[in-house]
Amino acid sequence: MKVGFRDVGINTETRKEVVDITHEVSRAVAESGVKNGICVLHSMHTTSAIIINENEGGLIKDILTKVKEDYPSGKGWEHNMIDNNADGHLAGAFIGPSITIPVRNGSPVLGTWQSVFFLELDGPRSGRKVVIEVMGE
Ligand code: ZN
Repeated sequence: MKVGFRDVGINTETRKEVVDITHEVSRAVAESGVKNGICVLHSMHTTSAIIINENEGGLIKDILTKVKEDYPSGKGWEHNMIDNNADGHLAGAFIGPSITIPVRNGSPVLGTWQSVFFLELDGPRSGRKVVIEVMGE
């Protein structure tokens, strides 16, 4: 079995942000030399998440609106007593830090309209890190 690693650094500019990292996934798979297997993406942070969806401007805004609706910041969360970002932690916990993508013939298997996104839930931040691990043969 072959294993390839790639660490992706991400800087964000707003509190909640959607960052397309599809090209980083393709690059990690290509560099790994893995032809068939799986690719795991994992965000190293408690106030971020990884999702797959369509990169369409209106939908990106809708995703951010939905996150803010589901995890409002001003709700008297206990964690806000020590660190004013409980909304980001909650969204990160329930949306999730990791995804897995199949790899076939040296490419990530994604549908025509599927892109891979890093979700910033407590930005702006520099030095966010997503670890990509590609395994297979
Ligand atoms: Zn916190």
